[in-house]
Amino acid sequence: MKTRISEKKLKSLYQLLSDPMIDFDCGELCAPGNGGIPVCCANEDVVPVLFNEEYKYHWKNGRFWKRMPPINKEIKKFIEEAEDYYVFAKCPGPAGCERSKRALNCRTFPLEPYLDKDGGIMGLAYSDTNGIDCPLIGKPMKIFNPVYVRNVIKFWEEMFEYYPEEKETYMEESRKRDRRIKRLKLRQKRLSILRKVK
Ligand code: SF4
Ligand code: SF4
Repeated sequence: MKTRISEKKLKSLYQLLSDPMIDFDCGELCAPGNGGIPVCCANEDVVPVLFNEEYKYHWKNGRFWKRMPPINKEIKKFIEEAEDYYVFAKCPGPAGCERSKRALNCRTFPLEPYLDKDGGIMGLAYSDTNGIDCPLIGKPMKIFNPVYVRNVIKFWEEMFEYYPEEKETYMEESRKRDRRIKRLKLRQKRLSILRKVK
C-alpha cells in the first residue's frame, strides 16, 4: 500500500487533534451503562479503523495498535469491503489507553465533516454511528470546544488532499443528510397541517 502521509505530517495531524473535544470526560456518560467501558472504546463491538500510515507508524513505535483478526463474520465482511487504505485494529482498551497514541478516528468521533455541493467544509455534524450508542449525539454543538472544532475542520481539509476518496464519501454522506433533513421538515410540516385541521 502506497504511503500518502509522511510520518512528519502524521505527527502534525495528531498534534492538531490533541486539544480536548469537550471540557468533561464524556466516557462517564456512557461507560456506566456499558460494563464500565466507554462505548466507542469497546473494541469487540466497535472496531477502530486506522489509516494505513497510522498503523505502520504505531507498528514501528511500540505496537500499541494490533491488526484486528476477522473474529466473526461481521468483522470479516467489514475488512473485505473496506477501502484498502484502512486497517481495522485493536488497542489495549481504556485501562491501557495512551492519549498520544489514540488514532485519528478516536480523536474525531462522533463528528464528521459536512460538505457543501462544491466540496467545501461547512462545519461538523454528528456521524451516522451505525447503532453505536454515543450519548453525545444530539447534544447542542456548543458543548464542543471551539478550538477543537476549528482544528478538526483544518484536519479534514488536509486529509482530503491526501485522500480525495474520503472527500467523495463525505460529499455523499452530506447529501444523504440533506435529504434526511428535507424529509424530516416535510414530515413536521405535514404534522403541523394535520394539527391545524384537527
Ligand atoms: S465519544 Fe460518545 S461513546 Fe465515546 S466516550 Fe464519549 S460519550 Fe462515550
Ligand atoms: S486508543 Fe484509547 S480512545 Fe482510542 S479506542 Fe482505544 S481506548 Fe478508546
